[in-house]
Amino acid sequence: MSFDSLGLSPHLLAAVADAGYTQPTAIQSQAIPAIIDGADVLGAAQTGTGKTAAFVLPLLERLGKGHEKKPRVLVLAPTRELAAQVAESVGTYGAKTNLKKTVVFGGVGYQPQISAFKKGVDIVVATPGRLLDHLNNGHIDLSNLDTLVLDEADRMLDMGFIHDIKRVLKYVPGKRQTLLFSATFSKDIRKLASSLLKQPIEIDVAPRNSTAERINQKVVMVEKPRKRAVLSHMIRSDDWSQVLVFTRTKHGANRLVKQLDTDGLTAAALHGNKSQNARTKALEGFKSGDIRVLVATDIAARGIDIDALPHVVNYELPNVAEDYVHRIGRTGRAGAEGEALSLVGPDERKNLKDIEKLIGRQIERFQPQGIDLRAPQSPDDNDDSRPAKPARPRGEGGKDQPRQKNKPHHERARQDDGNNGAHKPRRNSRRGKRGGRGGQRQGSGSNSS
Ligand code: AMP
Repeated sequence: MSFDSLGLSPHLLAAVADAGYTQPTAIQSQAIPAIIDGADVLGAAQTGTGKTAAFVLPLLERLGKGHEKKPRVLVLAPTRELAAQVAESVGTYGAKTNLKKTVVFGGVGYQPQISAFKKGVDIVVATPGRLLDHLNNGHIDLSNLDTLVLDEADRMLDMGFIHDIKRVLKYVPGKRQTLLFSATFSKDIRKLASSLLKQPIEIDVAPRNSTAERINQKVVMVEKPRKRAVLSHMIRSDDWSQVLVFTRTKHGANRLVKQLDTDGLTAAALHGNKSQNARTKALEGFKSGDIRVLVATDIAARGIDIDALPHVVNYELPNVAEDYVHRIGRTGRAGAEGEALSLVGPDERKNLKDIEKLIGRQIERFQPQGIDLRAPQSPDDNDDSRPAKPARPRGEGGKDQPRQKNKPHHERARQDDGNNGAHKPRRNSRRGKRGGRGGQRQGSGSNSS
């Protein structure tokens, strides 16, 4: 199947070709004609399936090329990152139109967003809370809206946005097209869908809880205090250039970043406690290759869109097995191969079992060479950077050797325990210096095109 048969105009086909897409993905081939027809759509699709283009392209088709003053399309998204990402896609695919878009989220100034509304926009991409502020203050008029999109609706429910969404709906015409995308069709999603959608066409390209075949999944059984050393070792010895690492907590993410920094690996944390500026910078640095390891919590990672992310690591398994599927969906995207590695401690066996039950198969156990997976038993073994005997790992030694080798034992042990409170990383200035590079803000408040 090619894009030509889906009902898209030549300028959109050209944009698709410019993006390098030769074939529509499953969700695109089903959703594009239905949305152009004006149908409501309930789509089960994870990030990585091409779902953004699946609704952006047909909506651009419906809007035509001409700009009008009042918004005709509203996309609601759970996170700032996802909102920025969707807006970027609108800009890319709509490059050959006069349509104006704006992206609206919290944590940045109101004024640029208000100015964008005043100038007139056709497409608004927003997180619910900030949009509601604007609506309540009369900054934006949605009475002309044709289409409402709820992107990653499951996450919006998880994040407690349901009330904001309901309030936003009061400002939106009842007669409209509604599209709802969600990674899974839970009971709550079905309930929300039945209240919002009219005779929707249901498209399910993400069979519930299956994991993509092209993702090479591995588990390393490793004692908790060794996880950091194993992670650093694998990044170095296999020369991973871009790794997304998941931790359960924001605190855990911050701590791991400090530790990796001490190991000489450029790392940054992405989570909800970071300012918008810091998150944008981290993401830009990661995309450009300045930052090798991005450590994120589940929610913060939702909006990350990076082509063909090669490595995802579960530093800790998620408590909810479904989150494993979301996490590893970050790799092996749109036809590219990817690797998902999980570092599983003895206390996480139950989580692992739940995940394997959910995905319906056992994940391969893997034993990395040249690194000890057991926690130190005696003070003499207390060097987490030392390769296990007799093998000497590739890429280690010389200047690649983690720096804390020369530190006193008690300091190394402390880091290994994940207790960095008493120790100051030697090289925490690396990212600080680079921080100045990311001057341009991705998707800042107003982003008209
Ligand atoms: P999404 O699921 O919308 O986050 O898209 C995942 C990635 O797939 C994005 O980086 C898109 O640029 C890419 N993509 C979308 N559609 C296609 C396609 N038809 N062929 C190849 N890549 C695509």
